[in-house]
Amino acid sequence: MRKDAVYVRGIGGLLSAPPKDRLHRWSLIFLRSKSMTNAKRIDGKAMAAACSESISARTAQLVERTGVKPGLTVVIVGEDPASQVYVRNKKRTAEACGFNSVQHSLPEDSTEEDVLSLIDELNNDPSVHGILVQLPLPGHLDEELITQSIRPEKDVDGFHFQNIGMLTAGHLDGAFVPCTPAGCMLMIEEQVGKDLSGLNAVIIGRSNIVGKPMASLLLKANATVTICHSRTKDLPEVACSADILVAAVGRAEMVKGEWIKPGAVVIDVGINRIEVDGEKKNKLVGDVNYGEAVEIAGAVTPVPGGVGPMTIVMLMANTLQSAERVACIS
Ligand code: NDP
Repeated sequence: MRKDAVYVRGIGGLLSAPPKDRLHRWSLIFLRSKSMTNAKRIDGKAMAAACSESISARTAQLVERTGVKPGLTVVIVGEDPASQVYVRNKKRTAEACGFNSVQHSLPEDSTEEDVLSLIDELNNDPSVHGILVQLPLPGHLDEELITQSIRPEKDVDGFHFQNIGMLTAGHLDGAFVPCTPAGCMLMIEEQVGKDLSGLNAVIIGRSNIVGKPMASLLLKANATVTICHSRTKDLPEVACSADILVAAVGRAEMVKGEWIKPGAVVIDVGINRIEVDGEKKNKLVGDVNYGEAVEIAGAVTPVPGGVGPMTIVMLMANTLQSAERVACIS
């Protein structure tokens, strides 16, 4: 197996980026920093479409060889409109990949026992390979208790402590990697290769679902990693040291052009809704000021059309991986 294929196999063998040696990678960053022209737009939508095709093909093979059809079940509690949209998108993508896609919609006033008993049923259903509980849950439900009740081998979101522990220990092959950082990592690898030795990576945000697992993945790839948060001093200065900058904050366009090192790869995880010109219309923006970032970065993800589509497709990759494990296909 090619060395550069190791990580990609770990999260489902989706893209085989060409091997990039260290000289190539450095010259890429140097040339970008010299030219200071508009950054490359990292097209998450196109990458996700390519991954999706690969997943569909592997799913068809799995079904043909073993009769096992990947099953993804999404549990949603309540009527949160943004969550409804996310769940619809996940269902649509799962169906396009050839999965069995099932949605359980529970009423807003469901009790913890209601949700836990449904998860118990799904944990014991052999046709279900991936279980996802859409967050956030209504305030009266204990999110941690509920997410931890999903069996680790069906935890395709990668939130179970067992999966987090394996990722932190660097055992990527056995773990489900949380979908957003997994997608970010593929986009980073496509820009600078798989070995990030000698590169500084800065992550703004330390959440369990994005910032911390992102740090584990970047460390595993040999980057020198700094995690920033709301108590970090001199944030713009720290951000400016990054060859790879990941923003996962939830503050519209917080990262300005002058926070970005010339030629850096900038991954914008943020999804923020802002009003346009004081009108009632909303528009989605990231945590990075895209207009300023493209003037200085080497490559940058847009919002929308960057990290979002990759997150969904990584969920499909994890579900397929789970089904392949059940069918004993490595
Ligand atoms: P959280 O709210 O859990 O974490 C936000 C992090 O940002 C915290 O660590 C917080 O620090 C830090 N932070 C807040 N304000 C500042 C500040 N002024 N300076 C520096 N750090 C700050 O968010 P998530 O990680 O769940 O999500 C982050 C963003 O990514 C959101 O916009 C979310 O919608 C988006 N998202 C997008 C996904 C996608 O698929 N594209 C998937 C998941 C999330 P502290 O810990 O000190 O409070």
